[in-house]
Amino acid sequence: MIDDVEKPSLRADLGAAIVGAIEEVLGPVKADLHAPVFAGNEWTYLKDCLDSTFVSSVGAYVDRFERDLATFTGSAHAVAVVNGTAALHVALLLAGVERGDEVLVPALTFAATANAVSYCGAVPHFVDSSDDTLGVDPEALDSWLSFKTEQVRGLCVNRDTGRVIRAVVPMHTFGHPCDMGGLLRVARKHSLQIVEDAAESLGSYYHGRHTGTFGLIGTLSFNGNKTLTTGGGGAILTNDEQLARRAKFITTTAKRPHKWEYVHDEVGFNYRLPNLNAALGCAQLEQLPGFLKAKRELHEKYRQVFTRLDGVELVHEPENCRSNYWLQALKLKEVDLQLRDSTLEQTNVAGYMTRPVWKLMHGLQQFGACPRAPLDVAEKLEKTLINIPSGAGLV
Ligand SMILES: *Cc1c(COP(=O)(O)O)cnc(C)c1O
Repeated sequence: MIDDVEKPSLRADLGAAIVGAIEEVLGPVKADLHAPVFAGNEWTYLKDCLDSTFVSSVGAYVDRFERDLATFTGSAHAVAVVNGTAALHVALLLAGVERGDEVLVPALTFAATANAVSYCGAVPHFVDSSDDTLGVDPEALDSWLSFKTEQVRGLCVNRDTGRVIRAVVPMHTFGHPCDMGGLLRVARKHSLQIVEDAAESLGSYYHGRHTGTFGLIGTLSFNGNKTLTTGGGGAILTNDEQLARRAKFITTTAKRPHKWEYVHDEVGFNYRLPNLNAALGCAQLEQLPGFLKAKRELHEKYRQVFTRLDGVELVHEPENCRSNYWLQALKLKEVDLQLRDSTLEQTNVAGYMTRPVWKLMHGLQQFGACPRAPLDVAEKLEKTLINIPSGAGLV
């Protein structure tokens, strides 16, 4: 820590310097955190959808969107659903998560990751992140599991709670891929399924392979603030044909094909993505390479101005990874909440929308009693990360 006497001036200077740096990149305009860009065939496809009257849960755009997503990500299958949270819910069920299980989730994530675990009647068990990737730290996870769990008939059991730990959910924070090589090793060693929350990482690659395709199953989100949007939407990715078929079945009310009868042979979900949203998705997917290029260019511009500032760094993609740079992030070098908050204040007043990272999950009252590992890195990241305007339309 630097000496208290010097802090106030550093604080004022750094907040102002950050505003100046953002202005140098964006100019004196207002900028949202992540505004969508509709510059392609959106209107054409939406009109086509209305003209066809297929606006809802069947239609050609749903099939096409699923095919295009599979092609883009290199996943054998993609199943489109109503949102990323629903995708996670179903992915966890398909991975075998049952009532009373525990599921390892990073404390540093958006609430949807932990919510989806709760929907299954399971308990999130929070683990720490790595400072390099901002995602689940495989080494910390390995030591925690070696200390806390035992293998019982091929299952990972929490010694304290007696519950089965069924799976781990790596989340690729702001689009930066986790260390999937490390996580695959740890998951194998401790008999865990991997369900990847790739909600933020469409267009991000670890060693050349698309995020969301490493585990048994992965999920995407197409919410309005994501790299690609369908208004609301999500998808389930898997290379396993059986799982893909099962995903489609239970997200379409578990209806068996029949000429006219309503045959549902289990409790299913109405999670299918409407054709209207899929039409938007097809148009957006055509522009995705352009969005990704623009977002890298924006990163490069920010990098040039932020390397000149002391006390703060711009988060860069991890080694051997290609990030989609969904959200650009600054990391303050010192933990200083007053500095963070004054920086948030100054940037927002100047018209540049900035946000702190999410509150850690164990700090939310509904998850306060859940089991957790030491979270030192996540706790530091919580206090030092600031997201700055990141939309593809900004360059
Ligand atoms: C956006 C997001 C989701 C899913 O969000 P939906 O709004 O339900 O599509 C899940 N996890 C993370 C980490 C996210 O950022």
